Amino acid sequence: MPKVRFQALAESRKREHTSISEEGKRSELFGKHVFNEDKMLQFLTREAFENVKSAIFQGNKIDRKIADQVAEGMKAWALSMGATHYTHWFQPLTGATAEKHDAFFDILPDGRAMEKFGGAQLVQQEPDASSFPSGGIRNTFEARGYTAWDPTSPAFIYKTTLCIPTIFVAYTGEALDNKAPLLRALHAVDQAATGVAQYFDKNVRKVYATLGWEQEYFLVDKALAKSRLDLSMTGRTLVGNFSAKGQQLDDHYFGVIPPRVLSFMSDLEKECTKLGIPVKTRHNEVAPNQFELAPVFEEANLSVDHNLLLMDVMDEIADRHHFSVLFHEKPFAGINGSGKHNNWSLATDTGVNLLSPGSTPMKNLQFLTFFVNTIKAVDTYEELLRASIASASNDHRLGANEAPPSILSIFIGKQLSNVLDELEGVSKGKLSPEEKTELKLNVVGKIPEILLDNTDRNRTSPFAFTGNKFEMRGVGSKTNCAKPMTILNTIVAKQLTDFKKEVDVLIDKKGLKKDEAVFNVLREYIKTSKRIRFEGDGYGMEWQEEARRRKLSNNKNTPEALQVITSKESLELFKEMNVLSEVELKAHQEVELGAYIFHIQIEGRVLGEMVYNHIIPAAIRYQNILLKNVSGLKEVYGAAHKKVAESQLNILEQVGEHIVQIKKLTDEMIDARKRANGMAMSNKKAQAYCNNVKPYFDKIREQSDKLEKLIADDLWPFTKYRELLFAK
Ligand code: ADP
Ligand code: MG
Repeated sequence: MPKVRFQALAESRKREHTSISEEGKRSELFGKHVFNEDKMLQFLTREAFENVKSAIFQGNKIDRKIADQVAEGMKAWALSMGATHYTHWFQPLTGATAEKHDAFFDILPDGRAMEKFGGAQLVQQEPDASSFPSGGIRNTFEARGYTAWDPTSPAFIYKTTLCIPTIFVAYTGEALDNKAPLLRALHAVDQAATGVAQYFDKNVRKVYATLGWEQEYFLVDKALAKSRLDLSMTGRTLVGNFSAKGQQLDDHYFGVIPPRVLSFMSDLEKECTKLGIPVKTRHNEVAPNQFELAPVFEEANLSVDHNLLLMDVMDEIADRHHFSVLFHEKPFAGINGSGKHNNWSLATDTGVNLLSPGSTPMKNLQFLTFFVNTIKAVDTYEELLRASIASASNDHRLGANEAPPSILSIFIGKQLSNVLDELEGVSKGKLSPEEKTELKLNVVGKIPEILLDNTDRNRTSPFAFTGNKFEMRGVGSKTNCAKPMTILNTIVAKQLTDFKKEVDVLIDKKGLKKDEAVFNVLREYIKTSKRIRFEGDGYGMEWQEEARRRKLSNNKNTPEALQVITSKESLELFKEMNVLSEVELKAHQEVELGAYIFHIQIEGRVLGEMVYNHIIPAAIRYQNILLKNVSGLKEVYGAAHKKVAESQLNILEQVGEHIVQIKKLTDEMIDARKRANGMAMSNKKAQAYCNNVKPYFDKIREQSDKLEKLIADDLWPFTKYRELLFAK
C-alpha cells in the first residue's frame, strides 16, 4: 500500500478517545475571557465606563484621554489574566481573520522593562498589510491601511493574547475589510428602522439587527485528511469513488454523537463559553461525520465576530483531538455539503422583536410593516443578495439539490400568505370604520394564533420566514456572515427609508390616519413584490421555468453572480445608504473575482499533480502486475492463455483506456488554464476559469473514480471515502 495512506490509516487507528474534561457550570465560565461590562466596571474609571457605553449604544466617539484610560484598564485586566501580547483582530477581504501580535513588554529609555499599552495602541495600528487584498484601492490612492478599534465588539483574551476587534481601512477611508461595511449597514438599518418603529412606539431610540447563525462542518481524522493532497490544499476532495455506504440510510442525522467527537465538542463549548460565544445546540447532520453547532442569536456585528472566532477556535481544538475541521461547502461529492443558515431579525432597544407578531392589532401592524418591507426589499434586490453568498466553493452547493437554489425566493407559509392576500384587497385611501374593524380584528388581530400552528417549514426555500425571524439558507459554511449581513441590512434600510417617505406623504399631504397610510403603502408593496414569494419545491425543474417567467435572476456561478455588484442600481443603493462607495464596490468585486480565479487555479494545479504524479503511476503499476500475470499464464498455457487470462486482459484494456482518457483530459485542462491565465481582465479570466477550466474537473474525476474501482486497493494512492468518512 502507498506509504502515505498506509501510515495515515495506522495512525488514525491508534487514536484513543480523549475523555470529556470536567466542565463545571457553563454559566460560571461565561465571558470569563471577555472584557465585558462586569470587567469594565471593575477596571475602568466611571468616566471611561460611561464613554465606552455611549460609544456602544449611541455610536459616540471616544477621545484620546478616555482611550488612554480604557487602555490602562484593559491592560490591567489582561495582565491579571496572564496575557502577554495584544493584537488588533480584523477581517481582511480574504474572508478569514488576521492578527499581528505585539508584546505588552517594552523597554523604557532608561533601560527599565515594563508592560506598556496606551490609548494610541488601542485605537489604531498600522499592520504591514501590503499583502492583503485591496482590489486596487491602495494602489489607486497610494495609501496604506490601518486598523481602528470597534468598541461595539468587546476585546477578549485568546490563549495569551488580548484581541481587540477592529476595522481595517485605507488612509483615504475606504474599507479594506468586511467589518467596516457591515458597521455602516447596521447604522443605516438602525436609522431607517428606528424612524419606522416610532410610528408604533415613540420610545424606540435604536434598532439592532440580530443574527443567529447555524454552523455546519465535517470532522475528519487529522492524519487521514492530511494524507490527501486535495483535502489539505483545497479543502475538498477532487477525486474519490463513492463509499459503498453513504448517507442512504439517513442514520447519521440526529444520531448518537460518537465519543471522540463528543469530547471535541465539549472542549469546544467550554472554550466558546469563556470567550462569550453563547453556543447552545449541537447535533449530527445528514452526512456521515457532519455536525452542526448553533448559538443563541446576538446583535449582528457581535454575532459575526463570534462566528469568525468560533471557526478559529474550532481549528485549534480539533487539532488537539487529532481532527481536521472541514468548513468547505462541499468536501465530498455525492454527500450533502455544509451551509451556515443566517437567522435574521430586527430588535428595538425597548426589547421588541420587530418580526415577532404581538398580542394587539397595533403590534401586529408593526410586525406586518417590517415583514412586508423585508419581502419588498428582497424582491427589489434579490440579485444582490444572491451575489453576497457567491463563492467558488459555495457554487457546488447552490443549485445542487441539497441546498437552496441559486434563485432567491421567499417562503412565508400558507397562513401568512392568506393574510397578505386579504390585505391586498384593502381599498385605496381612507378606510371605512367597518373596514378598519374587520382588518384589525379579523386579519391583523388573528396573526399570533395563525403563527402558533404554522409549523410547515419548506426546507427548499432560500429565504424562509420561521415564526419570528427570516432564515437565509444559502450562506456557505465558510462564508464570513458579514457579507450577506451587509447586503441584507442595506437593502432593508433602503426599503424602510422609502416606506417612511411614502407613508409620511399620505399622512401630511393626503390627510390619512397613520394606520390607514401604513395599510395603503403595504397593500401596494404586497401587490408589487408577489413574484418573490414561492411556497413550492425550490429544487424542482418547474421552479426554474417559473422563476424565469417571473424574471427572477438565476445566476448559477460566481463570476455571473458578482456582476450585479457594480450595476447602476447597486452603486446608487450603497451610495444613498452610505455603506459602500463606487471605488469600494469595484474593489470588493475585484477581490471576489480574484479569489474565485485563485480558487479554481489551485484546484486545477492540485488535480494535475494528482493525475500525473499519483493516479497514472498507480494505474501503470497495476497494469504491470496484470501484464506480468498474463505473460506468466501465456508461458504456462500457450495459445490457450487468452481464455484463462480473459478477465485480466479485459481489466488491462479498461485501465489502459482510462489512462489515455485521464491524460488527455488533464492535458486539455492545463491548456485551458494557460489560456485563461493569459487574460488581463479579472472578469473575463474568472469566466474563462468557470466555463473552460472547471468543467474538466468532473470529467477527470470520473476517469479517476473508475480507475479507483478497478485498481487493487493496496495500490490506490489516496485515502478512500469510506476511510475518511467512517473513521470514528
Ligand atoms: P430551529 O430553526 O432549528 O428550529 P430556532 O428557531 O430556535 O431553531 O433557532 C434557530 C436559530 O435562530 C438559532 O441560532 C437562534 O439563535 C436563531 N434565532 C432565534 N430568534 C432569532 C432572532 N430574533 N434573530 C436572529 N436569530 C434568531
Ligand atoms: Mg435552520
